[in-house]
Amino acid sequence: MDVMKKVPVREQAPDVRNKNFDEVCLGYNAEEAQEEATRCLNCKNAKCVQGCPVSINIPEFIHNVKEGNFEEAYKVIGKSSALPAVCGRVCPQETQCEGKCIRGIKGESVSIGRLERFVADYHMAHGEKAELNIEKNGKRVAVVGSGPAGITCAGELAKKGYDVTVFEALHLAGGVLVYGIPEFRLPKSIVQKEVDTLKELGVKVETNMVIGRVLSIDELMDDYGFESVFIGSGAGLPRFMNIPGENLCGVYSANEFLTRTNLMKAYKDDSTTPIMHAKKVAVVGGGNVAMDAARCAKRLGAEEVYIVYRRSEEELPARKEEVEHAKEEGIIFKLLNNPVEILGNEDEFVTGMKCIKMELGEPDASGRRRPVEIPGSEFVLDVDAVVISIGTSPNPLIKATTKGLDTQKWGGIIADENGLTSREGVYAGGDAVTGAATVILAMGAGKTAAAAIDEYIQNKNK
Ligand code: FAD
Ligand code: SF4
Repeated sequence: MDVMKKVPVREQAPDVRNKNFDEVCLGYNAEEAQEEATRCLNCKNAKCVQGCPVSINIPEFIHNVKEGNFEEAYKVIGKSSALPAVCGRVCPQETQCEGKCIRGIKGESVSIGRLERFVADYHMAHGEKAELNIEKNGKRVAVVGSGPAGITCAGELAKKGYDVTVFEALHLAGGVLVYGIPEFRLPKSIVQKEVDTLKELGVKVETNMVIGRVLSIDELMDDYGFESVFIGSGAGLPRFMNIPGENLCGVYSANEFLTRTNLMKAYKDDSTTPIMHAKKVAVVGGGNVAMDAARCAKRLGAEEVYIVYRRSEEELPARKEEVEHAKEEGIIFKLLNNPVEILGNEDEFVTGMKCIKMELGEPDASGRRRPVEIPGSEFVLDVDAVVISIGTSPNPLIKATTKGLDTQKWGGIIADENGLTSREGVYAGGDAVTGAATVILAMGAGKTAAAAIDEYIQNKNK
């Protein structure tokens, strides 16, 4: 064993997996996990814990893995994280815990994410269900949205005895974990288990309930007896580029493309969900969402799939692992290129995308070097579908239908560090407040808000 390197993890081969939707990474078995755990130095001043947004006691859980006490390791993680099977798979570990790991200075960091995933999967397969002795307090709380923020907030409050109802606009609970992140990165059976656990805690999950249309937050509080509401409605409104041709047939927002593919299972042979099986697809953007869309397009049968991104590889915001996986699967990276027009035929179908080459200039407000067009460098990329993945913002529906709820200009709900909004009794967290961010941050916000809601209701009823 080379202690400088991570124990390799088994994965589906790239030319096999780019034709199916099964999970790419097969995870560690017990032996591999224990071997990897021996690489942890059990640092006194564990930098990895500082890098974890929910401060999991990483050395302690890894020590338990090393000793073969997998259930104990699960308990350690469970004190800080409600969704370890999800976070072990999708957290950007390289910029969080693993980015701070001492082992990473001279060699490869400890594979904290894969160990977390192993422990969570082991518990799902072998763990005994904890006995629930929850004393109900008769107080009602509504949660809007069933993504990681909503699931965590609802679970925490249910454990404290609240009568919690989650209202979800879609027909399935899970938020981005079910409609955005593809099956090959996060199997939906795992998300379903988390939703089932929530229901076992007594949480009611009402799907097909668009708050702001079917019922408003004002009605939930004034007419339906909810003492507090948590808004975890995410940031699902896609941005567009505002270039000619964006309304042609074959142009999708990444959200629509991924929702059709993942939530509505367009990839299955017997699916009735319509989706274009294009031969050449351009995905515009460089984040995780763009990588997911590109890898889905490949799996749906496209021969050529391009990532078109206006900056260079160094600035790609996607997780490093996703970029590597995408490259291995044959996705072609057209870096330092920006679309200027989508071209179509007389039937209004996409026939190509005109792009212009870019170079990097001085740093902009974000600290990243600003991409600048190179005059006269336009060219046409031969594609028959375009997926736009340049970001999302919160949907304005909730703001428009809730009295006294302040938002930022770009739509984010204004909330303090405990999640309290400008409206008494109404809390918010996750992407609805921060804009598109990460699962772990949404989960952390849900947990913080649950504690604040508990305190608010207790004080109110004194
Ligand atoms: P969401 O997960 O967006 O959930 C919000 C829920 O609220 C949705 O189910 C929505 O339908 C519902 N809702 C909205 N409006 C209403 C309403 N009016 N009434 C009722 N319900 C409503 N993060 C990572 O950490 N790692 C990754 O690898 C990663 N990959 C990603 C890939 C994709 C394709 C996408 C889109 C995001 C990815 N993210 C990733 C980001 C991460 O998924 C989000 O930051 C996280 O899901 C936010 O959680 P949330 O609970 O705030 O919102
Ligand atoms: Fe172990 Fe790395 Fe954390 Fe140190 S920093 S305790 S080596 S995981």
